[in-house]
Amino acid sequence: MISVRHLSKTYTTPTGESFQVLKDVNCDIDKGEVISIIGPSGTGKSTFLRALNLLDPPTGGEILVDGENILEKGYPMNRLRQRMGMVFQSFNLFDHLTILQNVTLAPIKLLKKSKQDAEAEAIQLLRKVGMAEKANVYPASLSGGQKQRVAIARCLAMHPEIILFDEPTSALDPTMVGEVLSVIRQLAKEGMTMLIVTHEMKFAKDVSSRIFFMNKGIIYEDGTPEQIFDHPQREDTQTFIHRIRSLRLDVTGADYDMYGFFTEVDLFCTKYALYDKCEPVKHVIEEMLNTLIATNERPLNVELVFSEMDYSLNMNITIRGMHESPLSRKLADEIAVSIVRGMSKSVTEEDQPDGFKIVFGF
Ligand code: ADP
Ligand code: MG
Repeated sequence: MISVRHLSKTYTTPTGESFQVLKDVNCDIDKGEVISIIGPSGTGKSTFLRALNLLDPPTGGEILVDGENILEKGYPMNRLRQRMGMVFQSFNLFDHLTILQNVTLAPIKLLKKSKQDAEAEAIQLLRKVGMAEKANVYPASLSGGQKQRVAIARCLAMHPEIILFDEPTSALDPTMVGEVLSVIRQLAKEGMTMLIVTHEMKFAKDVSSRIFFMNKGIIYEDGTPEQIFDHPQREDTQTFIHRIRSLRLDVTGADYDMYGFFTEVDLFCTKYALYDKCEPVKHVIEEMLNTLIATNERPLNVELVFSEMDYSLNMNITIRGMHESPLSRKLADEIAVSIVRGMSKSVTEEDQPDGFKIVFGF
C-alpha cells in the first residue's frame, strides 16, 4: 500500500545551519497492518509521520502510495490527505464548534456530503467511540480522553485508508489513557491500517503486527513485537527496550505520607498499563508498613521497579538495620502475612549488610 524509499528530511535552522532529522527511512506498509513506532524522543518519529502525509514534506526520497509517487508535482494533495487520516497528541478540535459540527465539518466541505447524511454518520461514529451523548456540547466541557475519542471519530468520518497517530495518549491524564487505547485497539480488530507513534510499550506489544524502532534518523530495527521486545538484535534497541522504570518511597520516621505515595503508585501503574497490579501493590504496602514493620522505629525504602522487557513489576522493601524477616512466625501478625503473600505472585527475602530486603513480584 505504501512504500517509503530513502526518505530524508533536513531542516535549516534560522542561523542557516542544516540539520538532518530523517537520514534514510525505508519501509513497506501493507493494508491491514498495525505498526507501532517506538524510539527515543527527538529521533524523527513525528517528522516521519508529517512527511508521510506531506504536512511537512520530506527533502529527499520517494513515497509510493499504490505505486504512485506522491512527491511528484501535481499529485492531488486533498485526495492524499483524505486517504491518510492523522490524530495528534493535542486533539486539534475546533473549540467554537460542537462535537457534532467538528465531526461533520470535513465530510460536508471536502466530501460534499449533505448535512443530513454527514450528521447521521457522525452519530454512528461518535457512538463507536462512546461519545454520542456529547454530540451537542462544545469541546471545552470534555476531558482530554473524551476529546481524543472525538478526534478519532472526526478522522474516521473521512474514511481514511490509513490512520497516523502521533502519540495519541501523551497529553492525557494517566487515568484517561486506557479509554483512548481501547478505541484504537477496537480499530485494529476491525482491520484498520494504522501507524502509531507511542510510548505505551505494553499496548504496542499487544496491538501491533509490526514494530519500528526509530533511532538516529532511520528505522534502526523492525520486526514483530516478539522480535523487538523479547529479542532485540541491535545494541541501541536492547538498551531502549531493557530500560527500567522505578518509583521510590523513603520512610525515615512516622510522619511519612503513605496515601500521597498511593497516588504516585496509581499514576505509575496507569502510565505503564499495569492496571490490575495497582490494588495488590497498595495492599501489600499498607499491610507491610502498618502492621508488619514498625515504621516509626526503622528507616526503610519501598521501590517499585517495572521492566518493559518482560512486563514484570517488582516491589523491593528494604528495612534498614533489621536482620530478621518481618514475615517470620515469631514477629508477624499471621493475617497480615497471609494478605501480603496472597496479594503478590512471589516473595523472596534476603538479609543484606544494610538491612533486610523483601522482594514482592506482581
Ligand atoms: P520525535 O517525534 O521522535 O520526538 P521529532 O520528529 O519531533 O522527534 O523531531 C526530531 C528533531 O527534529 C528534533 O531534534 C527537533 O528539534 C527537530 N525538528 C522538528 N521539527 C522541526 C522544525 N520545524 N524545524 C527545525 N527542527 C525541527
Ligand atoms: Mg514526536
